[in-house]
Amino acid sequence: MPSIIYLFSLQSYTVNAPHQNLLRINVGFLLNQPVGTTRDIHFETQDLSFSNDLTLIGFSGTLRLGRTPQGLLAQGEFSAFLVMECVRCLSEYQQSLHIHFSELYAFRNKPISDSGLIIPGDWKIDFSPLVREYMLLEVPIKPLCQPNCKGLCIECGANLNETQCEHVLVRPD
Ligand SMILES: [Zn+2]
Ligand SMILES: [Zn+2]
Repeated sequence: MPSIIYLFSLQSYTVNAPHQNLLRINVGFLLNQPVGTTRDIHFETQDLSFSNDLTLIGFSGTLRLGRTPQGLLAQGEFSAFLVMECVRCLSEYQQSLHIHFSELYAFRNKPISDSGLIIPGDWKIDFSPLVREYMLLEVPIKPLCQPNCKGLCIECGANLNETQCEHVLVRPD
């Protein structure tokens, strides 16, 4: 259930929905507002899937949209977890991911463009490609369930985080 809070020119609401297009926002409401107007949109959802290649759990964060002379400034700060397999002990664990970004969306008739992002004609900006891209950059190449994961015994395969086997040796790392 959305809750709406008005704070001066800053308006907030929370969306709770496990929906694919959660991050597709109609920004038309901001475009007629004076330059400097900002609104915060809070997100909180249990699962968020990006076209089958990335499923985040516990996704939450805030997207701040601000009207600028050239268009719209989108500042996002989001956290989520991703189920991954530890490279040392092969256990599944939840990797925490945290992103923040700041991107300018220009009016179509005023291309300014470093990034080339523009506000579409229907005013509906899909922020999910942006969020997906930033989240993927945060995914560790060598995921570890914990920084000091002890891994598996090379003799018997025991998970040394959970048990001690008789093959006590100094691990190379
Ligand atoms: Zn591990
Ligand atoms: Zn062992």
